[in-house]
Amino acid sequence: MPESTIQPVRHILSLSGGKDSAALAIYLRDRIPDMEYIFHDTDKELPDTYEYIDRLEDYLGKKIVRTTFGTTFDDLLRMYGGMLPSNHRRWCTRAMKLEPFEKYIGDTNCINYVGIRADEDRVGYISHKPNIKAVFPFREDGIDYDGVQKILRESGIGMPPYTEWGRTRSGCFFCFYQQKIEWVRLKQQYPHLYEEAKAYEKPNRVNGNIFYWCKDEPLSELEKPERIAEIISKWEIQQLRQKQNQKNLPLVTTLAGLSVDEPPSSGCMICHL
Ligand code: SF4
Repeated sequence: MPESTIQPVRHILSLSGGKDSAALAIYLRDRIPDMEYIFHDTDKELPDTYEYIDRLEDYLGKKIVRTTFGTTFDDLLRMYGGMLPSNHRRWCTRAMKLEPFEKYIGDTNCINYVGIRADEDRVGYISHKPNIKAVFPFREDGIDYDGVQKILRESGIGMPPYTEWGRTRSGCFFCFYQQKIEWVRLKQQYPHLYEEAKAYEKPNRVNGNIFYWCKDEPLSELEKPERIAEIISKWEIQQLRQKQNQKNLPLVTTLAGLSVDEPPSSGCMICHL
């Protein structure tokens, strides 16, 4: 190929609002000066996530490009006949995260930096497009959960604000991957967002069924005081059991003093990294 037609390789880091991608951006800031930072804004993120992205933008000294391209979650939900996304109908990740990502990159050659840690046994999103090459600097450099915490602490950025009230993941406030205890905390922290999530639970236009965010439990049931008390009590018992077995637990299962369930392997890595 003549030299004049060779395209420069782009360097892309996709931020989710989670701790690992944030730490990776900090880690690479001075190593890859021409890094492009992007954030796939679903318009349904937690206020904490927007605040964290702004904080990162200041630290990085560079614009974090919002890759949202006009179609909102509500538009997509209408297109899907009102069928809420779920682990089995995960149209949201593809439409709101993967497609904007690939659209942003286009056909240019790029290296995509992914924040999977050295202590994680899971794979992230790897595009099948031949022009996108995924790399995993934390894995290559042996940076684990403690290493990520150290990077966040020393930079002054800290952990994502939502971890302070016990939420463990970034992503949409109504994400179906969250645990029941997290729904309880969402209601306590952002009652209006809980109400907004609840309002989506109505008969869809395809078959009239109602899909719920939280498996088969409507949010209108989950929010009842006796049910909330039960969820909290079960969670506390689970915590106690885990603490008793602490020496058998891998460090990665403890986040900000809370024992957490990692997302299932089919979880939304691009949303929660
Ligand atoms: S955060 Fe959850 S609801 Fe939002 S796009 Fe990702 S998987 Fe879907």
